[in-house]
Amino acid sequence: MREHHIPCVVIDNHMGSTVKLGESLAPSANAVFRKLSLEEILTSEVHSLYVGNNVVWGDSSLRQRYFLNEPYGDGRHLNRTLFEKQLQDIAIERGVIILENYRLTSITQQENKMIVSCCHSDNTTRTITADFIADCSGRASIVAKKMGIKKQIIDNLASYHFIAEQSEESLKGMTFIESVEDGWWYVAPLADNKVIVNFMSDSDLHSNNATSLYDWLFSKIATTQHLKNYLPAIKSLTTEVGIKTATTSLLDKPGGKQWIAVGDALCTYDPLTSFGITNALVSGHNAANAIAGFLNGNTDSLSEYITSQMALFNKSVALLQNQYQSEQRWTKHLFWERRHL
Ligand SMILES: Cc1cc2nc3c(=O)[nH]c(=O)nc-3n(C[C@H](O)[C@H](O)[C@H](O)COP(=O)(O)OP(=O)(O)OC[C@H]3O[C@@H](n4cnc5c(N)ncnc54)[C@H](O)[C@@H]3O)c2cc1C
Repeated sequence: MREHHIPCVVIDNHMGSTVKLGESLAPSANAVFRKLSLEEILTSEVHSLYVGNNVVWGDSSLRQRYFLNEPYGDGRHLNRTLFEKQLQDIAIERGVIILENYRLTSITQQENKMIVSCCHSDNTTRTITADFIADCSGRASIVAKKMGIKKQIIDNLASYHFIAEQSEESLKGMTFIESVEDGWWYVAPLADNKVIVNFMSDSDLHSNNATSLYDWLFSKIATTQHLKNYLPAIKSLTTEVGIKTATTSLLDKPGGKQWIAVGDALCTYDPLTSFGITNALVSGHNAANAIAGFLNGNTDSLSEYITSQMALFNKSVALLQNQYQSEQRWTKHLFWERRHL
């Protein structure tokens, strides 16, 4: 927005202490970072190179797929907390006002203005009068929700995960993916020699509770063919364990007269695509151009933005279906049956 010389205020209730899931930045993100003049983030030492994937999918062999031959080069394994801070600092440098730890509470429309109220964690309130609102609130889709718009939720995917310290650096810039009877495992390196281990499966297929989750995950790892060999001696070093939704979803109506949805607020991608962060940046950039167009009198710019985002979503869902189709070992299991329609 600042490139278009449009004043911009961000309301964000994200507390720095809450770690967002998602750390693997696919190589295709490099082009987006260049377009947004954010290369300094990619070259910063706080993130490490992501050079490829160890994959067990379709049969029981373990394959290494390096990004060497890809046009975009390597990806990055992000230190997500520092990544969020870097983005915020750059936005401030570029003239964006950030209302940190403010939660959006209400929106009312008055003539051609949007009146937005928000509340700080210390209960201080602020009211902003805006010409336009971009809903960048992630899966909460808070603006859309306040407009009464529903979401289509396409699957029940959830991440059952834990973070552990490694006794030695075993992944060496790679992620590890292994499909199993009722889902797939995904392991990625984090900062400080830690790893995140995600079991991705449909939430309605399991009935575990938080107290047993840790043991349940380790008992499931023991039944894997390859993952169990990747994670020696980390059980005692686990620091966090949890469950997070990872559904693929799409707003029924991703925008209105003076608002549009952006990133996860508009649609969410299966983590198998590694596209969530890249999409949030691409759609943020495209949304800024569309809003600038709208404010300058281009009546088509918002609908063009929405059409292009939907096209991207539909293409990604088609690619994802191919990926799931390429695993045919457990076609009778509900997890795979649902994805082989
Ligand atoms: C298990 C899992 C693994 C993933 N792995 C990857 C991966 O490896 N690579 C990848 O690219 N993507 C991954 N993703 C997806 C990725 O994390 C998201 O797509 C990405 O964070 C979306 O960015 P966003 O800016 O749209 O939303 P978010 O990053 O969710 O940001 C939304 C912001 O809005 C704020 N907010 C919400 N409600 C309010 C309110 N009422 N008032 C004020 N602020 C509010 C939140 O605090 C937050 O800061 C993964 C997702 C999951 C679930």
